[in-house]
Amino acid sequence: MIRLNSDTETRPTTAMRKVMAEAEVGDEQRGDDPSVNRLQLRVAELLSKEAALFLPSGTLCNLIALKAHTRPGDAVVVEHMAHIVRAESGGAALAVGLMVEPIVTDRGVFGPDALDEALARVGTLPTPYGTSARLVCVEQTHNLGGGTVWPLPTLRAVGERAWTQGMAVHMDGARLMNAAVASGTPAAAFAACVDSLWLDFTKGLGAPLGAVLAGSKEFIAEARRYKQLFGGALRQAGIVAAGCLYALDHHVERLAEDHENARHLAQSLDAIDGIRVRNPEPETNMVFFEVRKAGLDHSALIARLHEAGVALGASGRYIRAVAHLDTGRAEIDAAIALVDRLMAQ
Ligand SMILES: *Cc1c(COP(=O)(O)O)cnc(C)c1O
Repeated sequence: MIRLNSDTETRPTTAMRKVMAEAEVGDEQRGDDPSVNRLQLRVAELLSKEAALFLPSGTLCNLIALKAHTRPGDAVVVEHMAHIVRAESGGAALAVGLMVEPIVTDRGVFGPDALDEALARVGTLPTPYGTSARLVCVEQTHNLGGGTVWPLPTLRAVGERAWTQGMAVHMDGARLMNAAVASGTPAAAFAACVDSLWLDFTKGLGAPLGAVLAGSKEFIAEARRYKQLFGGALRQAGIVAAGCLYALDHHVERLAEDHENARHLAQSLDAIDGIRVRNPEPETNMVFFEVRKAGLDHSALIARLHEAGVALGASGRYIRAVAHLDTGRAEIDAAIALVDRLMAQ
C-alpha cells in the first residue's frame, strides 16, 4: 500500500525502533524520565524558548495552550480552516469555553490588516455585550490551506500587532520543521514571533507519537498542570521520546526530499487530462487536486485507487496527497501512473 493520504502514516524505521527499545526511562509524571527531559531541553533550545513540555499529541498541545492563554468566554482569533477549528472535536468550545473569531483566507495565511478587521468585530476588552479576544492562533504550515508556509515577515507583523493589542500568540507548529526546511528560516526565528508553539513528531518526522510544547517558564508550569488534568501525564514515556530525539537527528533535513516529491507529484498530476491541481507549486509536502471530468466523483476515484494500492484522502472539495518518509520517488511515480491509467479509463 502506498499511503499518500497523510504524513501521519509514516512507520518508525528499524533504526528508530532500536533506539526506542534501548531508551533510558523513568517516571515521566514525576519528571524523572531522562529521555523525556533530554527531549524537552532539546526542543526548548531548538526554539530558543525558556521551557518545553512533552505531550502525547499535537491536539493536546493546542488544547492546553488555549486553556493556559485564555479564560472561559474569551475569543480566539484563528484562520477559518485551522486544525483547531476543524479537527479537534470542538475542544476550544467544549473544554476551554472559547468563542472562535474566524479569519477567512484561501491559503491559510493572513496579515495584520485581517487581524485588525477581526478585532474590529470582536474587540480585545470586555464590554457588556461582546467578548474579548485574548489570543491569536496561527498554523505552520497551514494544512488545509495547502501546506502553506507563513513567511517570517508576515508572522512577525501579525505577532507584533497582537502583542500591541495585549493578546497572546500561539502557533500550531504541527509541521514547523517542514516550514523551516522549505523556507530556510530557522525554527527559532518563527518561534520568536509567538508566545507558545509546538511541533509534532508523528507527521513528517516519522516518530510513532509525541509532540513538544514550548514557551516561557510560567507558561510551561501552567501547561504542566493542565497536562495532568487532561490525562496527558505519562510514565515511562522515554521509549517514545527516544524516537523523537532520533527524528530530530535524522529526519529533519530529509524533509526537503518530501517537498521535492510533492512538487513532482503536483506537476505530474496537473499534466493529466481532467485533473486540476490547486497548488501546482506546493510549498511543502502536500498536494491538493480536484478531478474535473464528467461522471467522475472524488469518492469513487479514491475508492478505485485504494483497491489498486494507493491511499489518498478526501479534503473538502479536494483530494489530498502528502509526501513523506515512506513514499519515495518510486512510490510517487507508481501513484502517478495509476492515477493516469484510471483517468484514461
Ligand atoms: C495533525 C495536526 C494536529 C494534531 O496533531 P496530533 O498529534 O495528530 O494530535 C494539529 N494541527 C495540525 C495542523 C495538524 O496537521
